[in-house]
Amino acid sequence: MKHCTRCLYPDTKPDLSFDSEGVCSACNSFDLRKIVDWDKREKGFKDIVWQHKSKDYDCIVPVSGGKDSTYQVIKLKQLGFNPLAVTACTDSLTPLGRRNLDNIRTLGVDHIEVATNPVIRRKINRIALENIGDISWPEHVAIFTIPVRIAAQLGVKLIVWGECPQNEYGGPAADNKTLDRKWLEEFGGLLGLRVSDLVGQDGISEKDLIQYQYPQDVSGVTGVFLGHYFPWDGLENFIVASAHGFECKPIPVEGSLACYENLDNYQTGIHDYFKYLKFGFGRATDIACNHIRRGRLTRASALEMVKAHDGQFPARCHGRPLEEIIAEIGVDRKQFDRIVKRFRNKKVFAEC
Ligand SMILES: [Zn+2]
Repeated sequence: MKHCTRCLYPDTKPDLSFDSEGVCSACNSFDLRKIVDWDKREKGFKDIVWQHKSKDYDCIVPVSGGKDSTYQVIKLKQLGFNPLAVTACTDSLTPLGRRNLDNIRTLGVDHIEVATNPVIRRKINRIALENIGDISWPEHVAIFTIPVRIAAQLGVKLIVWGECPQNEYGGPAADNKTLDRKWLEEFGGLLGLRVSDLVGQDGISEKDLIQYQYPQDVSGVTGVFLGHYFPWDGLENFIVASAHGFECKPIPVEGSLACYENLDNYQTGIHDYFKYLKFGFGRATDIACNHIRRGRLTRASALEMVKAHDGQFPARCHGRPLEEIIAEIGVDRKQFDRIVKRFRNKKVFAEC
């Protein structure tokens, strides 16, 4: 594995490219922010919201209750807008995640939570874990489809998403400011599994998948990334969110360096561990790289922390034993270990 000469991203990271000096595209995208005219971008953002305002709500803001979506709601309210908060409920909600979701409403917004059928959801969790090594696949589909469905149903024309992942973590279309069906299919992390592939598996029918479908008629609905219009920094978002009632953990989440993100879902530790198995880096690397780019950590000290935390086996997630979490989706420890073995990247781990 080769690594970026500035941060710690490896060349196994999908869609990441390197320049002739060995600097990765995430670092290069970040550098470009220094020459952005942010006042002009802010004005551009306000213009877009004004152009798309509907009779009732000015826009929809998808919220998980995390630090970023809390910040998004705060920002929109500070700019004088009236957003409708929409949550696609997570897979296995933690009590802390529940409190942070409840906190969103106290910021002064109406809030719709859409829960999908848990019987079907757990089947999809299991199918996705077994087939593509991603327990969180249904969550990652629904967080994109559900807000768009609500927008289409209520006649709201604008959805304000958070960060542009390609800009934050490197990838093509890093300067993309809109999120639409094409973006979702190309960059939404669906890993080659289509919603339609699930029909017929484990008794799943087309009707069970309504909320996972991108609506047919989305004419006039636009999605933009707030991170394109305002400088985006997870730690700053956390500080702002904390001042408005957001709660973090007293210590970092297992396998991570941060106590302020991935707080809402017991399954996230499993999701992040599989990313490590496939690509040889995990969430600790992502967070460390964000801090290196912003000058808050040296590469050397970040490397020490990543070595200590990245790729930890998810024996417990938010204090809950692995066996209990996977039992919910009908997988036992033996089956889990077999899946782990299957997805461990032999090229990456043979070199270690
Ligand atoms: Zn880099």
